[in-house]
Amino acid sequence: MPEGERFLPNDSPLAYLVPEAKVAVPLTPVSPSELSTRFDSLGAQAKSWIESTGFKAEPGSFALLPDSNGKLARVLAGASKEGSPGNNGLWDLAGLPSALPEGIYALDGVNDREKATRMALGWALGCYAFARYKKPKRDFAKLVWPQNADRGKVERLAKGHALARDLINTPAEEMGPAELQTAAEELARNHQAACRTIIGDDLLKQNYPTIHAVGRASSRAPRLIDIVWGDAASPKITLVGKGVCFDTGGLDLKTAAGMRLMKKDMGGAATVLGLAGAIMDAGLPVRLRVLIPAVDNAVAGNAMRPMDVIRTRKGISVEVGDTDAEGRLILCDALAEAASEKPALIIDLATLTGAARVALGPELPALFASDEELAADIVEAGKRESDPLWRLPLWRPYREMLKSNIADINNVSDSSFAGAITAALYLAEFVPHDTKWAHIDTYAWNQKTRPGRPEGGEALCLRALYAMIEARFGGKR
Ligand SMILES: [Zn+2]
Repeated sequence: MPEGERFLPNDSPLAYLVPEAKVAVPLTPVSPSELSTRFDSLGAQAKSWIESTGFKAEPGSFALLPDSNGKLARVLAGASKEGSPGNNGLWDLAGLPSALPEGIYALDGVNDREKATRMALGWALGCYAFARYKKPKRDFAKLVWPQNADRGKVERLAKGHALARDLINTPAEEMGPAELQTAAEELARNHQAACRTIIGDDLLKQNYPTIHAVGRASSRAPRLIDIVWGDAASPKITLVGKGVCFDTGGLDLKTAAGMRLMKKDMGGAATVLGLAGAIMDAGLPVRLRVLIPAVDNAVAGNAMRPMDVIRTRKGISVEVGDTDAEGRLILCDALAEAASEKPALIIDLATLTGAARVALGPELPALFASDEELAADIVEAGKRESDPLWRLPLWRPYREMLKSNIADINNVSDSSFAGAITAALYLAEFVPHDTKWAHIDTYAWNQKTRPGRPEGGEALCLRALYAMIEARFGGKR
């Protein structure tokens, strides 16, 4: 990482939410069905302008209204109707910062606190740019903080997203295991959390054989990053994030097309760090632990080989059926350590399988949970936050697909079916049945640019998980 480069805090999107302004253009959200009733208050000239320009108030669209001097007098922003299924209005304004003329705008007619909060958050998410190597072509438009918005919530979620996106978008050359450790340490320092890291051969001494085996072939040493924060007497929550900084596939080398996006194979770790930042920032009454196994899955003479057998931290022996199924290998030792403390909740996030993408596509992380209520809470929170996940089953009979002739388990299935489920079942071997545990198989990437979601790294389900954890453990401060 170049000297002076910092991955924290990235609060630059928040620079586009300003305290107040002498001159701000009123910005009025209006849904298609409200448009005609708005005409009365806007006057005949505006009505005629709107009708002649064909503005229909579709969510994401906007109309610039001039005054009699030809200056910009008001913006009408198309908004979704309250209660639209799967859409809480978060994205309604999120495309405007990069579409409206640069300047300062102020929300008009939004009195509801939750709506104002969502609109401010959407604005902030729409003001993210990955500017490490290239200056953006234009500046974003600014929004005056809506008076009744929950500013703390907007700030901590926007920062969490910006951090995760930055970490994922940074090329692997500058975001290796050491740099991921630095980012975690900075996050910990900013929140008075402890952070210790076990590096290289010390992983063997301290019994993390799978993390070492996956990462040992890289010149950049593998490690386990371990953040602890909060009162030891509070309920324990442990987040585990897959931190494969680059995945070549190992000796079972990926194709060029399959390898291209693999800088994002630490997307689980990045999302977990963004989420942890939000939890610590809110001061939720939990004892938070974050475990990130960080490795390069590289090719060298000392790389692990297909059909090698690794004795894991838990004592379960694993045959390496495929060196490209490395994510579950590094996660299993981290999960065994996480479970040893008997926390109230374990959540792991990982860019784990292509099968999850085949089943659900890029926008829906696959959720697996050991507990019905936990699964329902996460899915519901995802709906409320416009941050959806979709549950897949931990179908125990498929465990037999992971059989090995010489070890307790294989790291890959002998079938091409149900790959996301068998990966989850592999992980389940390392978490006791009575532990509340959710495993999330995420893409961590926006395939294409949509309002508030630029193409590139994405902290999918960060808002959903934050909302679920806040509702279950914290309540409000
Ligand atoms: Zn892999």
